[in-house]
Amino acid sequence: MVSIDRSSSRYVGRFAPSPTGPLHFGSVVAAVASYLQARSRGGRWIVRIEDIDPPREEPGATSAILKTLDELGLEWDGAVRYQSHMSASYEYALERLQSSHMTFACTCSRKKLVRGRYPGTCRDAITKDLTGKSIRVKVDGSEIAFNDLLQGHYSQNIEEIIGDYIVKRADGFYAYHLAVVVDDAADGVSEIVRGLDLLSSTPRQIHLQNLLGLTTPSYAHIPLVLSQSGTKLSKQTAAPAIDLASSCAVLIRALEFLQQAPPPSLYQQTRNEIIQWAISNWNIAAVNGISRAYPN
Ligand code: GLU
Ligand code: ZN
Repeated sequence: MVSIDRSSSRYVGRFAPSPTGPLHFGSVVAAVASYLQARSRGGRWIVRIEDIDPPREEPGATSAILKTLDELGLEWDGAVRYQSHMSASYEYALERLQSSHMTFACTCSRKKLVRGRYPGTCRDAITKDLTGKSIRVKVDGSEIAFNDLLQGHYSQNIEEIIGDYIVKRADGFYAYHLAVVVDDAADGVSEIVRGLDLLSSTPRQIHLQNLLGLTTPSYAHIPLVLSQSGTKLSKQTAAPAIDLASSCAVLIRALEFLQQAPPPSLYQQTRNEIIQWAISNWNIAAVNGISRAYPN
């Protein structure tokens, strides 16, 4: 497929799967939406494998994910990025937070959380030896608000709901929020199109962008594909992996879920014709932001 190269364009989008299993239909929908939003603007679209949580990773998942994207014709720009190669940047960001006294070491187990919120137990303890301790970043009581392209105004008081949150885990791995913010900035991502399950994570990411002096991209959170019983599709709920034999059908189903009204004539077209139609006709405003089952 011919990808549009307009190097003057500032739009950079990305798809950032964790290699915890093959893509299911819900993650394909998010990938398709992010791809079309970038390509319809003549922007770049990059793929980043978020492999910073080895305990949750499944052998072979990365190649299965890339194979699915490739089979669907979702061509990415440049080389695939791997978070496992980025530790030095995460460490640098962490040092910046530490030098502005925004972090502290924490020895609490999950049991110390009160209704999911960290009550600040170790905030003022002076800890020299950081081995085996998690590092949390301090939050204040301010509201963090942003306008999501699909979900509208969203506001969260992190201090009330989550409390000081982890940026480096006790097992030594960097936390998702820190890594994603550093990488989105390093890749110049201008807009993040991803699943609605990450909406409530966005205020923590904006909080970190503010502390690190990074630009906040715009956000569009795509509705989740739910199972018929109303739960999120995931590997845990045994969502079937995408059948690669039918990439055209998968693309059309994704376009239907995203309310792009693919015409019946598209069903006879090749994969690349479907993609070209989808790029030319993409209208993010038509996407219904509410998560639901498909087919319903
Ligand atoms: N790696 C995350 C996931 O697979 C997504 C991160 C993001 O899009 O910000 O759930
Ligand atoms: Zn603690």
